[in-house]
Amino acid sequence: MKGILQDLSLAELGALVEEAGEKKFRAGQLWRGLMQGKKISEITDLPKAFKAKLLERFEDEPVKIIETLTSSDGTEKYLFELADGNVIEGVFMRYKYGNTQCVSTQVGCRMNCAFCASGLNGLIRNLSAGEILAQILVANARHSGTLEKRAVTNVVLMGSGEPLDNYDRVVKFLRNVTAEGGIAISARNISLSTCGIVPKMYDLAEEGIPVNLTVSLHNADDAERARIMPVAKAYKLADILKACDYYFEKTGRRYIFEYSLIHGENADRAHAEKLISVLRGRPCHVNLIRLNEVKERALSGADEKEAYRFLGFLEKGGLSATLRRRTGADIGGACGQLRASRLKGE
Ligand code: SAH
Repeated sequence: MKGILQDLSLAELGALVEEAGEKKFRAGQLWRGLMQGKKISEITDLPKAFKAKLLERFEDEPVKIIETLTSSDGTEKYLFELADGNVIEGVFMRYKYGNTQCVSTQVGCRMNCAFCASGLNGLIRNLSAGEILAQILVANARHSGTLEKRAVTNVVLMGSGEPLDNYDRVVKFLRNVTAEGGIAISARNISLSTCGIVPKMYDLAEEGIPVNLTVSLHNADDAERARIMPVAKAYKLADILKACDYYFEKTGRRYIFEYSLIHGENADRAHAEKLISVLRGRPCHVNLIRLNEVKERALSGADEKEAYRFLGFLEKGGLSATLRRRTGADIGGACGQLRASRLKGE
């Protein structure tokens, strides 16, 4: 398999250009072209011979949209094909303040949460930094975004995969996506969601990239949480909270908990009370969402009434909380519905 040029930072492109015997300023042209979502072959200001040399070593189009589904709410779901034939999904969501691209960080996932589609076939492979970045570049270009006027203004690492289980590549991606002169999405407009891999949460706090940290909680009781999230056997809530506080100390960023309401599992008054007792007074926000249906998974979402009741308990208990609307549910693009719909060879 060829390499992926979008993996490289501007400095690394500089070294590559030098090695190829090209003039220094070519690195900037290359970086700009790639950041505009162009294929190598489409970057017109580069010498033909240099492009030909690059194409011997690097994929021309490492991530390409092979299918698009558009929801009645304007959300778009993309099926991206990778150079090795694997496919991943991504979602483009429109909001008043801008547009958010939800990116995948792995093909599949090894966490196997009981309610999520992404882990149904286990982990197939990690995505490289450039494969994560290219999802954004391709979506930005598709919506006529430029580097000066981006169509993608916000990014969430909430597609398939566990970002902190692919730590080095994800951090490299974060450096490149925030780098000046590129697509330059500010860290404060990026949210990284984790199921709570505690040691990596500490590592992330040290990187100097203050993205919003989001933790998928779904239950404030360790034993009950472990019933739906196998990872909870390894990392206890008390340790997750300590890591969140450390993250807050280091970055000044309030952290967020995702809580998907599952009927008969985590949506009763007692669950709300437990959540309040654990989170009250912390610099955090709770994002509630009604579980989206995943046909292979036996769990069902709380209904709207139940969800508002739960929200009411939290607010009364002094927590900052919101109930999120379910974007893209009609196209299987909502939380937990992303999967590699067409796995290689199927
Ligand atoms: N692995 C990371 C990133 C995934 S983000 C994490 O666990 O945070 C996707 C979010 O959607 C997570 O909060 C996940 O718990 C949630 N989710 C998964 N399946 C869902 C479903 N069927 N309905 C609603 N939310 C779901």
